[in-house]
Amino acid sequence: APAGVHAQLRAVQQGAAGHAEGDVVEGQQAHAAYVCAAAARRKGCPGGGVGLNAPQHLQDIPMATERTLSILKPDATRRNLTGKINAVFEGAGLRIVAQRRLHLSQQQAEAFYGAHRERGFFKDLVSFMVSGPVVVQVLEGADAIAQNRKVMGATNPANADAGTIRKLFAESIEANSVHGSDSPEAAAHEIGFFFAGTEIVG
Ligand code: ADP
Ligand code: MG
Repeated sequence: APAGVHAQLRAVQQGAAGHAEGDVVEGQQAHAAYVCAAAARRKGCPGGGVGLNAPQHLQDIPMATERTLSILKPDATRRNLTGKINAVFEGAGLRIVAQRRLHLSQQQAEAFYGAHRERGFFKDLVSFMVSGPVVVQVLEGADAIAQNRKVMGATNPANADAGTIRKLFAESIEANSVHGSDSPEAAAHEIGFFFAGTEIVG
């Protein structure tokens, strides 16, 4: 799990997990408990004391509704796969709350992938992303950022799990059909890169 989740899990183990049923858990602790209850149901909390052994009032807390930025890449639009890929998102409980088809400029692609500027594949990646139209979209749902990463599959389709979008559709490690934000910070930044708040209709 990402470091942030572990930090929040520790906060829960030290604090909120010790509360008796009916206790009011406030502020940071309540948020940590909320994240922990969601994480526990997904994959089990490290260190014990929570997860399936968590007090009932933590198990009943729903997963956080999130939004994440998704891109259907040029290899997907070229093969007319937008509907098939969207069906996988919807089947996984993700809701498309904003969507636009566009052709990225060189400048937009370089700015969007700015974090990868120093990587050896940067130039090729930018060329690929401007090689045809893309579909940018905001996906919404319970735990949407991690859920979308799970549904996408590993970056290299050779390593992607069965049933994931990249296993089903990707052509290569570069032409891998989809992009998805990898953290809440990235999601906020990437959604703002393409969409105004008024264009997102949940
Ligand atoms: P992900 O999209 O799974 O988050 P990264 O953020 O590491 O993966 O990389 C961004 C994109 O760069 C990938 O989706 C893929 O299109 C491309 N890419 C990543 N690694 C390579 C590589 N080794 N060779 C070519 N392209 C790559
Ligand atoms: Mg990435």
